[in-house]
Amino acid sequence: MSNKLIFIMLDGLRYDTAESRMGYLHHLIEKGKASRFKVKSELPSISRPLYEVLLTGTPVYKNRITSNQTIRLSHEESIFHLTKKNGLKNATASYYWVSELYNSAPFNKITDRFQLDGQKPIERGIFYWEDHYPDSHLFADANFLLSTYQPEFLYVHSMNIDNDGHKFTADSKEYRNRVLNVDGLLAELLPNWIEAGYQIIVTADHGMNDDGNHGGTTTADRDVPLFIISDRVKPGIYKEDIPQLQIAPLVCELLNIQQSPAMQKLSIPVLK
Ligand SMILES: [Zn+2]
Repeated sequence: MSNKLIFIMLDGLRYDTAESRMGYLHHLIEKGKASRFKVKSELPSISRPLYEVLLTGTPVYKNRITSNQTIRLSHEESIFHLTKKNGLKNATASYYWVSELYNSAPFNKITDRFQLDGQKPIERGIFYWEDHYPDSHLFADANFLLSTYQPEFLYVHSMNIDNDGHKFTADSKEYRNRVLNVDGLLAELLPNWIEAGYQIIVTADHGMNDDGNHGGTTTADRDVPLFIISDRVKPGIYKEDIPQLQIAPLVCELLNIQQSPAMQKLSIPVLK
């Protein structure tokens, strides 16, 4: 049974667009290789607080990463800390706010783009800071980390869907086509990653509304998909909403490591 996991976080991907524009992932569901769930995001439905939610399993009132302007290291125990503590190698290709939460803040563009020395909680990181940094390059960065360091946990964090949502709104051909495009990138990479023995999860921090924003309480702002490719989860489409605070304990379960005491007990009734 695999205890290796690639966690793909597609910033700003709302649920219904994922449902209608991700043909490759739905092919895997139709053929009994993957499952899909709906996740209700925590609040506020904005990026930096939800990165912390996804990676530490703690609510915003507790972790106090309350806004995108909260620029400091996290005080919580993240999946990066936990994997390192358990002797699993970790890596990430992510937006620079992830480095600010777990490695060092504020981000220094001159010195912090490549952090590969293994000394910090994120052991191998490649970070970008332009929201239009191409997802094609981001996924190539991730593949480099995977083939060079063979981490048991790889976190991949893209930004182009969110960027096009802000520019053109969720009700635009640009936003919908960007989601199609990312599904195509996944179709290029996932067969090799699965072949290499990795379990895969794909989810988002928050959605995107038709005003080209997020942060509120509507389903457009809050509902995001969760796709799981793992022998441990029964394939299919599940109707129940999953609380976003369940993602971090799910990640620990798939990695076969003990979750942090601050996380909720895993209650998704789907693990074999
Ligand atoms: Zn955004």
